[in-house]
Amino acid sequence: MLNKKTLQQKHKEMLAHGSALLATNFYNYETLRGILEAASQMKQPIILQLTKSSVDYMGLQIAVKMARAALEEYAVEGWLHLDHSDSYELIVQCLDAGFDSVMIDASEKPISDNISITRKVVELAKQYNANVEAELGYVAKLGQPSDKTGFTEPEEASLFVNETGVDALAVAIGSAHGFYTRAPELDLERLSKIHACTSAALVLHGGSGIPADMLKEAIKRGICKINLATEIKNTFMCELKNSLANNQDIDLRKVFPPAIHAVTKLVKEKLEIVKNAVLLTDSMDDYD
Ligand SMILES: [Zn+2]
Repeated sequence: MLNKKTLQQKHKEMLAHGSALLATNFYNYETLRGILEAASQMKQPIILQLTKSSVDYMGLQIAVKMARAALEEYAVEGWLHLDHSDSYELIVQCLDAGFDSVMIDASEKPISDNISITRKVVELAKQYNANVEAELGYVAKLGQPSDKTGFTEPEEASLFVNETGVDALAVAIGSAHGFYTRAPELDLERLSKIHACTSAALVLHGGSGIPADMLKEAIKRGICKINLATEIKNTFMCELKNSLANNQDIDLRKVFPPAIHAVTKLVKEKLEIVKNAVLLTDSMDDYD
């Protein structure tokens, strides 16, 4: 019953409804459960993401089977996505293991290399009917300076999507991975221009810490997938440290639940933001 729609179809549906999909990274059973409790309670779809580090930590087959079993158990419409892979080999392994979607991130390479590797992944993914996301421009990674210019150029985005046939495109419009040291400022005009000249589903990385109104405005202007990782890790670990400070309990089945609930609360808040963002921001046309 689940996963009847491909992610490509779902992206179009979300765009038509003025909503976006929330893409959440999970790291273990506890964060997975926290996320799915939220999606289930909110009756909203979700993308479950794994990075190479998480795949290495949990083991590919265990991570995939755990995610699939959990989606089914919670009756949540969801997709499994490989986040930020610079390795073609890992992408092959993940597609073989049943991922619905993969990201090839060659954004730090020259655009001609980014185009050729992305095209290769798109060709491969067709055999699996899987969604492919690429990145164009510079979204600062953890530990990288976030003030470097390297925003996605609309003309380049159009060329890139046409040349590669990629389904989804992560755009650099002012967001960054990790925590923000100052309030993020999204270049919404640029986003509108990119949206006007490409057919790809647009993805916003570095969703942690961006104010709700700004996220809604970005959705209104064409973002249909928002990635959330840092806030999930941070929320889980802060709550865990908090509860451990005054607790000598060695029963980890009692120790973890407060941290799981904190993740659920966070993800519910984010799901509320991405749901029908357009309807909620009709009166915000003065945002530019
Ligand atoms: Zn990212």
